[in-house]
Amino acid sequence: MFAEIIIDIAHANVDRLFTYRVPEELSILPGQHVLVPFGHGNAQKEGFVLSLTETLEADYPLKDVLRAIEPYPVLLPEQISLAYWMQKNYHCLLVDALRLMIPAQLRGGRVHEKIERTVSLSRTLTPEEMLRSLCDSSGKPRAKKQHEVVKLLSESGLEMSVADINAFLGGASSAIGALIRRGYLVENGHVTFRRPDGAGEAIADKTVALNAAQQSAVAAVNEAMARRDGSTLLLHGVTGSGKTEVYMRCIEACLRSGREAIVLVPEISLTPQTVGRFRARFSDEIAVLHSRLSAGERFDEWRRIRLGRARVAVGARSAIFAPFSALGLIIIDEEHEASYQSETAPRYHAAEIALRRAAETGAALLLGSATPSLLSYFRATSGRYQLLTLPERVMHRPMPEVEIVDMRQEFLAGNNGIFSQRLQKLLRECFSDGRQAMLFLNRRGYSTFVSCRACGKVIQCENCDISMTYHKNAGLLRCHFCGASAPIPSRCPDCGKPFIKYFGIGTEQVEEQLRRLFPDVRALRMDTDTMRKKGAFDQTLSAFSRGEAQVLIGTQMIAKGHDFPNVTLVGVVAADATLCIPDYRSTERTFQLLTQVAGRAGRDDNPGRVVVQTYNPNHPAIRFAKNHDYPGFFRYELAERRKALFPPYTLFLRLLFSGPDEAALAESGERYGRALEAALLDLLGSEGRQDLLMLSCSPAPIRKKQGSYRYQVLIKLLRTKRTASVLRLIYDFEAAHRNELFALLEVNPQDML
Ligand code: ADP
Ligand code: ZN
Repeated sequence: MFAEIIIDIAHANVDRLFTYRVPEELSILPGQHVLVPFGHGNAQKEGFVLSLTETLEADYPLKDVLRAIEPYPVLLPEQISLAYWMQKNYHCLLVDALRLMIPAQLRGGRVHEKIERTVSLSRTLTPEEMLRSLCDSSGKPRAKKQHEVVKLLSESGLEMSVADINAFLGGASSAIGALIRRGYLVENGHVTFRRPDGAGEAIADKTVALNAAQQSAVAAVNEAMARRDGSTLLLHGVTGSGKTEVYMRCIEACLRSGREAIVLVPEISLTPQTVGRFRARFSDEIAVLHSRLSAGERFDEWRRIRLGRARVAVGARSAIFAPFSALGLIIIDEEHEASYQSETAPRYHAAEIALRRAAETGAALLLGSATPSLLSYFRATSGRYQLLTLPERVMHRPMPEVEIVDMRQEFLAGNNGIFSQRLQKLLRECFSDGRQAMLFLNRRGYSTFVSCRACGKVIQCENCDISMTYHKNAGLLRCHFCGASAPIPSRCPDCGKPFIKYFGIGTEQVEEQLRRLFPDVRALRMDTDTMRKKGAFDQTLSAFSRGEAQVLIGTQMIAKGHDFPNVTLVGVVAADATLCIPDYRSTERTFQLLTQVAGRAGRDDNPGRVVVQTYNPNHPAIRFAKNHDYPGFFRYELAERRKALFPPYTLFLRLLFSGPDEAALAESGERYGRALEAALLDLLGSEGRQDLLMLSCSPAPIRKKQGSYRYQVLIKLLRTKRTASVLRLIYDFEAAHRNELFALLEVNPQDML
C-alpha cells in the first residue's frame, strides 16, 4: 500500500503530494495525520494522507510512513476535496486550506486528550478487611485520611476521579498514593472533554407558537432539507421578527432526520446569552467554536464533533469547516457581516465555503439577516436563492419610531453640544420611566483629531497617514492603526503657537458629556479601549441586562444581536461617522448599522424610539433606515452600483503595493499596473476589452501605514464566462512578482482603506 502525503509545511516548494510506502503493520486511512521522514537527514515531519493506492510504478526507493498520530482520520473525504477546491479558487497553498479544517493545536502535538485520573478499590481484600487493617487494635483508624478514602469509595461503590476525592475530603493525594502502594486502590485513566463553561447558563426561551410567517419559513427550509439538493434560502427578517426561533426549529428538524447542523454567528455576537439559548434547546448536542476558548477546549469541542458526540456546531467564521459527515443544514446569521470574509490567506468567505459544502453534501443553506448584503438579496431577487421574509416583529410589536435630527439646525439654534435638545428630552423621559437607553457612536477615544488653530496643522501619526486620536483617560494621543502613542502637545509642532484644539467626538467624550448632563445616571461604555480585559465584554453586557446601568454607550460592538427588553431609547450620536469612509459600500454599511442599532429599541412590550443625529439628513442611507425600508434601499443602491460598475455587477479587485520608498513604489506600481493591463487585454482580445476596467496606480486612501507607503491598482471585471481565466492570469501575475514588490491581491476586499 502506498500513501500520497502532503507535508505540514507552508511553503510553495513543498505544497504537493509525496508518495510513501505504508508498512504492513500500519493501518492507515485517507485523512489520517501521520509522521514521516522528510528531506535531507530524514527529519520527522507531520503530514496528511490525502489518498492511498495499491499499485505504483516507481523506479526510485520510497520511504516508509512512521506512524499515525491520532487513531482516526482527522480529515474527512469531503474536507479533502474542499481543500483542493480552495487551492484552485483562492490560489492558496493546499496545506493552508487543510490547516483550517483542524484545530491549530492538533498540529505539532501542542494539545492532547485530557486523561482524568480515577481510582477504584482493588479486589485483593474486601472493603471491610481494608478498613479493619487501617485501624489499630482498639478500632481507631491509624491512617485517618486513608481510612476516609476507602470508606468513601466503598460507600459510593464506584470508581471516582482523584480530583473529586480531593475535593470531597479536602486534599487526599498522599493518602491515595499510599493506598495505591499498598495495593488497595487501582488506578485508571479516562478520556474527558474539556467543555467551555461560562458560555454556559442555559437560558431557556419561553415556548412560543410560531406565527404564520415563521411557519412558512420553517416549512420552506424543511422542504429544502428534504430535497437534499444543496439549495440556498435567504431569510430577510426585520429586527425582532424571531429569526433565531426559526433557526432553532430548523435545527430540530435537521437532527430528527439524523443529520447535523452548523450555525455561524459573528464572533462579536457569540455572547453567553446567544450560546445559552442554543444550549438550553440542544444541551450536549452543541459544540461551541470561537477564539475565546482555550486551546484544550477548542481541541475537545472539535473532537466531540469529529467523534459524533455533538451534532450542532455554533461558532464564528472558521466553524464552517466543522468536521461533520452528515451535514443537513448550514445557517449563517447576520450574513451581511464583513467578519465572514477572512482577511488572511486563504482569503475565503464563509458563505462561499457554505455554498460549496451544501452543494457537495445536499445540505440546505439558510442565510439570515435584517439587512441582507446587497449581493445576497440580488441573488434572491434573481431566483438563485429562495427568498423568505419575516416582515413584522413578533407579537405584532411595532417597529421603533425613528426621528432624524438635523445637527446643522441644532448648531444654528445655539446648541453646539453633543446631544440635541430632542435627544436630551427623550433621555430624561426614558430615565424617569425607569427604562434603559443605548447611545451609539462608531468612533472611540475622546477627540478624533487634534489640530493647531493658528496654522491648521493636524497632528498625525509618525508611521501612518492618519490623524491621532486624543484619549483623555489615558492622557495621550494614539494612532488607531499602528497603536503608536504620543504625548499631548501644548504647542503646535509646526508653528510653535499654543493654540491646540480638539475636534471630532469619540465615545469617551459621549460618556463624559452624559455624566455632565445626568450626574445621577450610571453609564457603561463598550469599545475596544474598555474591552481589553478578558471577560469584560460578557461582564458589561450582563451588568447592563441586569439593570446595573441605565445607559450603554458603545461602538458597533453594541449594534448587533443583543436583546435587552428594557431598552426603549436608542440614540445615534453621529450617523455621519461611517458615511464619509471612502469605500463603495459606505452607504450600505451605514444603512445596515443604523437599522441594526435601531433594532435594539423596543424589543419587549414597550415601544421603542430611535433618534438619529446627522449633518446629512437627506442621505439615502438615513432616509431608508428611518422608514425601515429595505427593499427601497436595495433598489436605490443597486442602481448606484450599476451606474458605477461596482459589485454585484462586477468583480472588484485591488492590487495593493507597499514599501518604504514612496517614489520607487509609485513608479514600480505604475509599471506593474501597465504590464498587467497589457497581459489582460492580450487575453481578452478586442471583443473582450470592454469587460475590463482598470484604474491607474494611485495612493491608497491611507497612503502610509506603519511606516510603509501604500499604492493600489483597482480592477473591475464584468462577470462573463471568461472571468475565471482572467482571475487566474491576475493571480499568476501577482505570484510571479510577489518577491520583487510587496503586493497583495484582494478579491472583493472588505476594507478599502
Ligand atoms: P431576531 O433574531 O429576528 O432579532 P429573535 O429570534 O431574537 O429575533 O426573537 C426575539 C424574541 O421574540 C425572543 O425573545 C423570542 O423568544 C421571541 N419570539 C420568537 N418567536 C416568537 C413568537 N412566534 N411568538 C412570541 N415570541 C416569539
Ligand atoms: Zn500609526
